Amino acid sequence: MPEGDGERAIAECLNCGNAYAAKEWPDGTIQPIGTRNGCQCGSTEFQIVEETTTTDLHED
Ligand SMILES: [Zn+2]
Repeated sequence: MPEGDGERAIAECLNCGNAYAAKEWPDGTIQPIGTRNGCQCGSTEFQIVEETTTTDLHED
């Protein structure tokens, strides 16, 4: 899978609130990783909830 230039982030579905690992592209597109067709609820609109600069995800 090509990694591309997107910034890694956590994105939340605007419709149902599910959170996904995602990429934020320079043009503002938010692309959830592994869910090409958008959220499982059918929405394709997301908002960034957490920027992540590494793959070392952890929860406080
Ligand atoms: Zn959703």
